Amino acid sequence: MTLNSNAFQRCISPECGATFSPENVLVSCPTCGDLLDIDYEWDRLKVPKQLSDFESYWADRYLPHRFSGVWRFHELLPFVAPEDIVTIGEGQTLLQRAERVANYVGVASKNLYLQYEGMNPSGSFKDNGMTAAFTHARATGATQAACASTGNTSASLALYSCMTRKMRAIIFVGSGKIAYGKLSQALDYGALTVQITGDFDDAMIRVREVCRELGIYLVNSVNPFRLEGQKSVMFRVLEALRWEIPDWIVVPGGNLGNSSAFGKAFIELHQLGLIERPPRLAVINAQGANTLHELYNHQGLRWNGGQGNQPLVQTYYSELDARHAKAETIASAIEINRPVNLKKCLRALDFCDGVVRQVSDQEILDAKAQVGAGGYGCEPASAASVAGAKLLREEGVIAPSDRVVCILTGHLLKDPTATVAYHSDDQKKFNEVLGSRGVKRASFANHAIAVSNDLDEIMRAIRLYA
Ligand SMILES: *Cc1c(COP(=O)(O)O)cnc(C)c1O
Ligand SMILES: [Zn+2]
Repeated sequence: MTLNSNAFQRCISPECGATFSPENVLVSCPTCGDLLDIDYEWDRLKVPKQLSDFESYWADRYLPHRFSGVWRFHELLPFVAPEDIVTIGEGQTLLQRAERVANYVGVASKNLYLQYEGMNPSGSFKDNGMTAAFTHARATGATQAACASTGNTSASLALYSCMTRKMRAIIFVGSGKIAYGKLSQALDYGALTVQITGDFDDAMIRVREVCRELGIYLVNSVNPFRLEGQKSVMFRVLEALRWEIPDWIVVPGGNLGNSSAFGKAFIELHQLGLIERPPRLAVINAQGANTLHELYNHQGLRWNGGQGNQPLVQTYYSELDARHAKAETIASAIEINRPVNLKKCLRALDFCDGVVRQVSDQEILDAKAQVGAGGYGCEPASAASVAGAKLLREEGVIAPSDRVVCILTGHLLKDPTATVAYHSDDQKKFNEVLGSRGVKRASFANHAIAVSNDLDEIMRAIRLYA
C-alpha cells in the first residue's frame, strides 16, 4: 500500500514551512510544533479543468470511491491511490432548501440551505474526516487508533473500526460530558472506552500523551489527513448548487477542524483556478465556549500572514486556568475552550473574509426547534449555525438577498436529552437539564399532552389540540 509521492505534509508556519513525507504519522510539526497541512504537487497531478467535470464520475457510482461523497472528489485530496481507500459510503448528504428556517433567520425563503451532515453513517460530519484519517492510518500500518471526543469523533472512529475490522478503537471521553446517543454508539460498536475525570480539553491533552507513548494513531482533527476528508463537505455544497458559490457558509466552531478544512478547500479551489472567489465564512461559538469569539472579536487575533499571535493565545489560556474556567454549553459537541485548529481557522477566516459570533444556549435550542420543525432534526451544536445566521442577519451583516448555507453537523438523535427537556412542560425536568444553562423558556416547545387511558378523554384532547 503506497501513499502518493506527490503529496506531502507541510508545517503551516511560513517561517518554518518544514515538509515531511506522507508516510510519517504526525500531529504537529517536529521542527516548530505548529500544525501541519497536507499539500500536493498539483502540477504533477491530474486535476479537473472545471468543477463540473466531476459530474462525469456520477455514472461510476458502482465504484466504492466514486460512491463515497468524500472520495468522488478524490482528485482534490489525492494522497492515496483509489484502490487503497477505506470507505463505508460516507458523505451521502444533501443540501436542502429550508423555507421555514429561512423565515426564522430572516432571509428570502429560497435563500437558506441546510447541509445535512447528520445523514452520515455514524450520524455526524465526522465520518468525512474519519474515512481520510482511517485510510492514512491503514496505509501506515497502524493497528490501533485513538481520539479524545465530545462524542461524535468517538462514534465515528468506533464505527470505522468495527466495520473494517482492521483497527482497535480507543476513545477518551470526559466524565459525564458525552450525550447518550453518542456514547451508545461507541459502546455498541465495541470501542475501548476510557472515561477520564475532566472535560474534553483535559481528555485531548491526555490522548496526545498516550498516543505518543504507545505509538497509537491519533484521529482527532490535529491529524491533517482528517481535515482533507472534511474539505468534501464544501465540494458537495458547490455540487448541489451546480458549482455556484453561495454568499455565506455558516458553521459551528468547536475544535475548529471544519472551518479550517472549509478554508483549505476554498484556498485550493482558488489556487487551482476552479473558483473565482470564496464564499464568506461565519464561525459560530457557543457563549459558554467562546475562545475564538473572545480572541478574534475582542483581542484582535488574526492569521497575520501565518504569524498568528501565540503569546496572546497563551495569555488567554493562562487566564482561563487561573479562573478555573471550564467550557459550559448544552451544545456539547462544541464545548471546547482550547480549539486545537485555532490557527488554521484564522487562515480560513482571512481567506474567506470571515466573521465570528457567539450565541447563547437559549438561541441554540430555539434555532434547533425551528430546524426540527422543518424536518431536518439536528443536535444542539449544529443549530448554532442557524442561530448565528439569524444573529448576523439581525446585525445586517447577512443581507436578506444573500444565499446562506448553514452546516448541520450532527443528527437529532445524538442528544435526545436536550430535545426532550426543551419540549417538556414539566418545569422540574426542564430545569434539570436546561436551567443551569441559562435557558429560560422554550419558545417553540411542542408539549406532549397527558391524558388518562379513557376513550372519551383521549378524543376530547385530540379535538381540543389537533
Ligand atoms: C465535532 C462537532 C462540531 C465541532 O466541529 P469542529 O470541527 O471541532 O469545530 C460541531 N458539531 C458537531 C455535531 C460535532 O460533532
Ligand atoms: Zn514547523
